[in-house]
Amino acid sequence: MPPSPRVLLSIDYEPWFALTRRYDLLSDPLQRQTLDDGFTKRAIDSILDMLGPAKASIYIVGEISEWYPEVPEKIVAAGHELGLHCQTHRPLIALEELSKDLSASAGWSSRFNLRGYRAPMVGIHEDAYALLAQNGFTYSSSIYAPAGTLLQKGSMWELPVSSLALFGPASDLTAPRKFSTGLLLGGEVPYGSSFMIGLMPATILHILERELRAGLSPVIIMHPYELVQPEAFVRRLGRDLLAHPLLFPFTLNKSRFLTTLLKNFPVSGLATYLHEVTNV
Ligand SMILES: [Zn+2]
Repeated sequence: MPPSPRVLLSIDYEPWFALTRRYDLLSDPLQRQTLDDGFTKRAIDSILDMLGPAKASIYIVGEISEWYPEVPEKIVAAGHELGLHCQTHRPLIALEELSKDLSASAGWSSRFNLRGYRAPMVGIHEDAYALLAQNGFTYSSSIYAPAGTLLQKGSMWELPVSSLALFGPASDLTAPRKFSTGLLLGGEVPYGSSFMIGLMPATILHILERELRAGLSPVIIMHPYELVQPEAFVRRLGRDLLAHPLLFPFTLNKSRFLTTLLKNFPVSGLATYLHEVTNV
């Protein structure tokens, strides 16, 4: 029997400054923790409260588990799926970078028996799947593709973040398939991105409803700073917002979107759904 349609809700649990990309190369862990300023520790309780009995997949940035070991503990204790977003947030499309990052996260990742991976900025290399499998992962959700797409990559599964293909089926599903003008020009709207949720929340809820009616289970992404406002968020992002106005939709509070979503649609994490579909 096919699994019942539901929204596959994921949260990429990262520090607020991951959004700016200005600190991607800041390698001092203490400076990074100081920048976070306790945000990822404070936000988790409110977010778990917002989710209530609904279950999600929460892919966390590994350095958060070093700063605040209670964060992953709380996620697991509340019954959510804990997955890996990366160890420190930066582009990991290059295999060498991904390999270094997986080694850096190996300790806590195996302690929590992580199985799911979401690439930073939804950017992954096609050859990364074998590397992820070697590191104990069973699935990834690291490309954009139309809802209903599930790809087998060797022993791994790829369950993409959802897009809407406006002009018929998407042709080439080879990674990377990130949010890009190429994707948009090909007629795909990556509505599972929190950028799109920020731009047009009501339209996204409408699309989700249509997808569920069609028997599909769309995958969407949210971030902690979109659900709980970090201290002086917009002020601290000031010059980034001026230089990159497209960051603006990420700064909008989406807690109402989440509340409406949870009130109106069935929701689950990705691993639960995959288990129902593939029996792994
Ligand atoms: Zn991220």
